[in-house]
This record gives sequence, structure tokens and C-alpha cells, in this order.
Amino acid sequence: MDTKDIIRRARGFAKPFRVTNGRGFRLKAVDPGDTLQFGSEDKPRAKEALAVGIEAMAELQRMLYAQDRWAVLLIFQAMDAAGKDGTIKHVMSGINPQGCQVYSFKAPSAEDLDHDFLWRCMKLVPERGRIGIFNRSYYEETLVVRVHPELLERQKLPAELVTKDIWKDRFKDIRSFERYLTRNGVIIRKFFLHVSKGEQKRRFLERLDNPEKNWKFSANDIEERAFWNDYMKAYEDMIRKTSSPEAPWYVVPADNKWFTHIVVAAAVIETLGALDLHYPKVGKDMLDELAAAKQVLLGRRSPGPRA
Ligand code: ATP
Ligand code: MG
Repeated sequence: MDTKDIIRRARGFAKPFRVTNGRGFRLKAVDPGDTLQFGSEDKPRAKEALAVGIEAMAELQRMLYAQDRWAVLLIFQAMDAAGKDGTIKHVMSGINPQGCQVYSFKAPSAEDLDHDFLWRCMKLVPERGRIGIFNRSYYEETLVVRVHPELLERQKLPAELVTKDIWKDRFKDIRSFERYLTRNGVIIRKFFLHVSKGEQKRRFLERLDNPEKNWKFSANDIEERAFWNDYMKAYEDMIRKTSSPEAPWYVVPADNKWFTHIVVAAAVIETLGALDLHYPKVGKDMLDELAAAKQVLLGRRSPGPRA
């Protein structure tokens, strides 16, 4: 299969989950257990397809890097144990680490809290030619901070700026920020890994029962689970208010990891595939220089004076 075919197939996997206009979006309409028409018997074939896709992605990334024009920002948000880390690991496994930057955003530091809410993320927007990954992001400012208003208090905002419109304002600012980045050649794609509450429970229990997974367990994750419905409301509102054609959300079913990986890989491939990437063309002067360098290496000519 050539890269064009792979890009075409990738579109088929990514499109059903892409939200470019959030008006009327309902989280309930997306089944976390969805695997399109594929059953678990298709898992081995899915894994092969993923490997082929990752190979194609690596080639596209080499061109992105060589061309040095576009930057790609991939944002991952999810409830705990939805599989953000594993998805990033699998999907980006073929990518040259030099062309990729991953950042995990934890609870903000004192320095972060002394700044506007986009500050710490703005500094880490990927440079041209790179793929940047945000494992959590400024969207936490409309999720965990919304679910726990006491976190907002710690942000030291002047009281008169904290009004009932604060979330509406934040969505507006995020939309503007993303439009600004888009206009500057940063391609943004956002992923919400949509896991069900039942599957989260199963994964938490596995973390408790399996000694190799114990380290992943955090009591705080159980506490956050109690706020499940508040989180779902916040996620739904976030997707409604910040989906756009230039910075779409992919709401990815996350109860089956193999399927999550396929959809995310497909979305990245379709994104890179739409950029018309190619290796930079070398001009006549450069070709002459290459030919001269070859003559020198072959000992047929001595190096000329430095320009
Ligand atoms: P993850 O849960 O993403 O796999 P982790 O378990 O390694 O990461 P945690 O210590 O859980 O790391 O860090 C993430 C925590 O930081 C989450 O509870 C998240 O809600 C919180 N967080 C991230 N951004 C913010 C923010 N802007 N304001 C408040 N809390 C935030
Ligand atoms: Mg955590």
C-alpha cells in the first residue's frame, strides 16, 4: 500500500470521530466501546494496520522536519486511566525523537499561578518542522478548575475579573489563541479519549491488583472519579465551545486500547497527509555545490577557498 492509500484509509477511521462544529454536540452520542465495524477478532489485523500507518507517519514527519514550515500540535485530554500515555507511546513510536516534543502538564507551580492561564503552554508550542504533544494542556483550565472552583481562587485573579462569564471568556480566549496559532502555521488537533466509567473502574482495579501497575495508582484518581458527572459536563461544554474546522476535537472511543491507537494514528496521518509535504527542492546553485563537493571527496579536485 502506498502512502496515498494509507492516507485515504486513515481518513475513514478518523472522520467519524472528528468534531469541527460543536453546536449541539452530545457526549452521550459517542459510545466509548465503539470499534466501528471491527470486532476483537480483527485485533491482530488492526495491529498490522497500525504498524503500516506508523511507518507512513514517520515518512511524513521526515518531510515535515525537512520542509521546516509547519508545526503540529497534538493535545490529549482525558479522565484518568483513559490511556493517554499508552496512546502517545504507541502512536508516536515511529517518529524520530528529534522531531518530536512531549510535555505533560501537571498541577500549576507557584510561578505558573503568577501568570495568565495560557502562559505555561504558550512557551511550549512546537517550533516549525516539529510535532509537539501536550499531555493535558490549557484545557485543564476549563475542566479540573471548573469542577473544583477552589483552584480558581488560587489563581490570584483580580476579583472583578472573576464573573459568571469566566468559562465563556476562557473558551473565547482559547478559540482566539488557536486561531492565532493556525494563522502562524501551527496545525492543532485535539483528542479527547472517551473512556466509560465502568472501564475506568476495571483499569483502576488492575492497577491495585497488578504489582507492576501499582505505581500508577493515585488515591487522587479515585477522588476525582466521584466527580465523574461534573467532568463529563465540562468536557461536553469544552467540545461544544472549542471545536472548529482549524482546530477540531477528535472524540475517540477509549474502552478498547487497540481501537484508540488506530483512530489517533489515523487522525495524525490524515492531518500530515493534508499538508502536501515534500522534501525541499534543491536549486541549481546547490546542485553545482553538491557536484563540486563530490569531486573533492573523490580526490579529483582540491577544495576551493571558503566563501
Ligand atoms: P496523568 O494523570 O496525566 O497520567 P500523572 O498521574 O503522571 O499524569 P498527576 O500528578 O495526576 O500526574 O498530574 C496531573 C494532575 O494535574 C491532574 O490531576 C490534573 O487535573 C492536574 N492539572 C493539570 N493542569 C492543571 C491546571 N491548569 N490546574 C489545576 N490542575 C491541573
Ligand atoms: Mg494522574
